[in-house]
Amino acid sequence: MRRPLVAGNWKMHGTRHSIGELLSGLNAQQWPDQVDLLIAPPALYIQQCREALDGSPLKLAGQSCAYQAEPGALTGEVSPAQLRDAGCEYVLVGHSERRSLFGETDEVVCRKFAAALACGLRPILCVGETRQQRDAGDTAEVVGRQLQVILERFGVSGLAQGVVAYEPVWAIGTGLTASPEQAQEVHAMIRARLAVLDDEQAQCVQIVYGGSVKAENARALFGMPDIDGGLVGGASLNADEFGAIARAA
Ligand code: 13P
Repeated sequence: MRRPLVAGNWKMHGTRHSIGELLSGLNAQQWPDQVDLLIAPPALYIQQCREALDGSPLKLAGQSCAYQAEPGALTGEVSPAQLRDAGCEYVLVGHSERRSLFGETDEVVCRKFAAALACGLRPILCVGETRQQRDAGDTAEVVGRQLQVILERFGVSGLAQGVVAYEPVWAIGTGLTASPEQAQEVHAMIRARLAVLDDEQAQCVQIVYGGSVKAENARALFGMPDIDGGLVGGASLNADEFGAIARAA
């Protein structure tokens, strides 16, 4: 009943040239048609991707956006309206790198979520605990708090207009993947938390896993009942591997 979703987050990688090659590789893939497929390139290259992917099932996502929809004096920011205008349908909000390196608080993430929805973008809300928080047994509390801000403002039906990405910080870019069981446990916990508020909507929310997803571990992760696909970093920079991950969903 929930469509799987596989997204590639290119982070701050690529040049016009390397992205041109990556796009050619992506256009040579066989894409599954029952999966929502997207890539999040650096904002500067969205236009290049849009042109090269004309006719492809791959959709475009921003990696972040400003916390307001209206134009304004926000030097260096890209607004969700501009992302939409450039052809994006989704945007990541609250990625752990934004939270830890750029000081984005839950409140800022919530404003970004709101601004994205106001512009017709589907926000992908990233949540996840650090190693230290996991070791202290605080995973449920940390993830619950990150969700709570959005739920208070938008309810489960608002959250369901977007996507949840569970990305344990200790698994991002480290080669340490959460085991399918570890990831499933948190995904089930997230869904149970939503179900208390609105069971019907909770069953519709796509919850994807991120953190060292690769072709070799994707099938086992995506096979778990509450894991609806993946948010892929490093491995999405290789077209063949990203294609294989998409086909595992
Ligand atoms: P890696 O797949 O490189 O661990 O990155 C995950 C991620 O942060 C996706 O948003």
